[in-house]
Amino acid sequence: LVSREVKPEDSLVRVGNLTLGGAAIHVIAGPCSVESREQIISTAQAVKQAGATMLRGGAFKPRTSPYEFQGLKGDGLALLAEARKETGLLVTTEVKDTATLASVAEHTDILQVGARNMQNFSLLEAVGETRKPVLLKRGISATIKELLMAAEYIVARGNTQVILCERGIRTFENMTRNTLDLNAVPMLKALTHLPVFVDPSHGIGVRKAVPAMMRAAVAAGADGLIVEVHPDPPRARSDGFQSLDFSEFEKAMGEVRAIAQAM
Ligand code: PEP
Ligand code: MN
Repeated sequence: LVSREVKPEDSLVRVGNLTLGGAAIHVIAGPCSVESREQIISTAQAVKQAGATMLRGGAFKPRTSPYEFQGLKGDGLALLAEARKETGLLVTTEVKDTATLASVAEHTDILQVGARNMQNFSLLEAVGETRKPVLLKRGISATIKELLMAAEYIVARGNTQVILCERGIRTFENMTRNTLDLNAVPMLKALTHLPVFVDPSHGIGVRKAVPAMMRAAVAAGADGLIVEVHPDPPRARSDGFQSLDFSEFEKAMGEVRAIAQAM
């Protein structure tokens, strides 16, 4: 169902009043985790000002260590809803499991399925039963084919509103957190009609290098970006080392716009 052979024209994903996968590049920005009212509202205002159309923020965080910050959970969802109301930005947050799907779906405009859950088939089936747009992230060691088959699980249940997201894969290289596989962008665009987003923050995992990969992703043909932005990255409770501050994000957005216009 997700193949371009079956449907040659691009699929557009409608989120609120936005159309993803069309001519315009859309940027989702915000902190890795929702930490406080002040943090999420100030970030929402700053990223909106810089040109982002959607806000990200984790409430249920799948952390590598069980001793790391796991997110504000229900309180985080409520704060996202406040930020949405305050700024008009649409919201995306990760759904970590089927148990919390209903409450997450109620509070978000896009359901994010994280890399660690790309082959959680029960979760894929459950989000496939909803009619919420889904941002499906590529698994840490998943092939392009496996990503497409994961999307197929969702679409097969009737939810056609799927956005694919390249977020870096694990390779032998360890100077960067992951290796952002920009090869995946033109490959996916050729293989499927679904919109393709790129997450340069997790893809490279090095703050100073994120803007270059934002530009590269757009130049490679991505339909949009998801970028981590924090008011004070060194103090972030998760992923501060790869989060842009407000002025870094604003500058990078100007560069991204210039590339998008030149294409
Ligand atoms: C995130 O977006 O903060 C996240 C956990 O991403 P991923 O699932 O790609 O690791
Ligand atoms: Mn993160």
